[in-house]
Amino acid sequence: MHTIDVAGVQVDTRHFVNGERLESPATYTNTSPIDGSFLGEIARGDADAVNAAVAAARAAFPTWSKLGPKKRGELLNKLADLVEANVETLANIETLDNGALLRSHLRGVMPRVAMNIRFFADYAINDLHHEAFETRGHTNNITWDPSGVAALITPWNAPLMLATWKIGPALAAGDTVVLKPAEWTPLTASYFADLTKQAGIPDGVFNVVFGYGTEAGAALTAHTGISRISFTGSVPTAKIIAHAAADNLTPVSFELGGKSPCIVMADADLDLAAEIAVEQYDNAGQVCLSGTRILVHESVADEFAEKFREKAAALTQGDPRDPATDIGPQVHQVHFDRIKGFVDRAVAEGHDIAWGGGPNTELGGLYFQPTLVKNPAPGSEIVSAEIFGPVLCMQTFTSDDEVIAMANGTEFGLAAVVVSGNRDHAKRITDELVAGTIWVNCFFVRDLRAPFGGSKKSGIGRDGGTWSFDFYADVKNTVVSPNGWKE
Ligand code: NAD
Repeated sequence: MHTIDVAGVQVDTRHFVNGERLESPATYTNTSPIDGSFLGEIARGDADAVNAAVAAARAAFPTWSKLGPKKRGELLNKLADLVEANVETLANIETLDNGALLRSHLRGVMPRVAMNIRFFADYAINDLHHEAFETRGHTNNITWDPSGVAALITPWNAPLMLATWKIGPALAAGDTVVLKPAEWTPLTASYFADLTKQAGIPDGVFNVVFGYGTEAGAALTAHTGISRISFTGSVPTAKIIAHAAADNLTPVSFELGGKSPCIVMADADLDLAAEIAVEQYDNAGQVCLSGTRILVHESVADEFAEKFREKAAALTQGDPRDPATDIGPQVHQVHFDRIKGFVDRAVAEGHDIAWGGGPNTELGGLYFQPTLVKNPAPGSEIVSAEIFGPVLCMQTFTSDDEVIAMANGTEFGLAAVVVSGNRDHAKRITDELVAGTIWVNCFFVRDLRAPFGGSKKSGIGRDGGTWSFDFYADVKNTVVSPNGWKE
């Protein structure tokens, strides 16, 4: 059996290499986080599978890279059309595989997958300005040339959305691709591979190798036939990949973890602040950008805490396919145990757990209660480490200087949220924050033309608009003299 019935459609469990399915001698078991049910036996890639995928991608590169942005754009827009036509199917597959809310996949995430592909296809045609600079009569012509084979390694928290944030610009830039999706959530990548074939993307341009990071991922990042490594995941894995990349001097782009602040100023609209604070539980807390450290001015702390408590108490936890559900399960038992470990240690250290604090015993399985840790000791594990679950901390501050120091006081610098009723005051704070993205009186809104990425240990490089092409392409300057012409 090479296909499994998921959400009423057949999903292939083999690698996708050179436009065909590639058998794997070994497999691993994939289960649904919703109820632990068996989903299928998935190809467990090794160096052989990776070698075949990189060879196919290299063979496809000369033709794809020479096709030009317009022709590539036509095919990629066809692919985006197919994603749009399959939003419901992709949403249902993803929910079964990673346990995130079906209604979010239907309304936001899968339409965004199509948008990612369309945006970068059109950007390569219309918005990459092939600038020319004049120096003493000489013209410097800037071009973005395709670089080769991009190795893309992705996490499980928003599997297809984050993958297409890389696939879109890589293919639009003229690179060919080998994708290694996270082992816990392989299914939408497989269905998506079928859509690339239907869209007429030539064989070998897009390849998928499934399997474990330590096997397929390690073989891919160490391969001498790739030109780029784009990785989204955790800091410890990034360090391993950085070593592999160093051997071949392969350029890397890293989108990593965070422990972002969500700052509530004394002048904030506290209803809005509570609304934004409760959003930090979205996707069962499995969002890299979440403002998991709520920093609230002491003068409004009690009033804010009461409003926040009311909103948190109104969250419904349950089956992510139910439209009434706000918080689903964690993705996998290993991850669930990791979250529980953080909270158990915080309890043992005597931290004040305002609500939640453990598994939801009524639901059982992988459902962890939304949790708030109040006034954690500065520097303690619970307020320093990325938990990546529905666990928030709340601390108070009394001055701008203090909150800026607290906000910047971790090894991360991915994002920050500031809630304030005064523009000048908000700006004074945002000017001092070290973060790739800052939201003021809002959360999660972002234009695909804008840069996205992390400072400090939260990443290397930026995605979005021209920044993506700067990474996936070989940017070239051709300097042309006014002299020496015979015509
Ligand atoms: P992870 O680092 O464990 O795994 C990510 C990917 O790397 C998976 O595909 C995995 O198989 C692969 N991998 C693991 N070991 C590897 C190795 N030795 N060589 C090559 N590949 C290897 O991360 P995760 O648990 O899947 O994801 C959660 C992390 O991702 C969190 O830290 C979160 O903050 C981060 N994240 C960041 C962003 C962002 O845009 N900054 C977005 C989503 C998630």
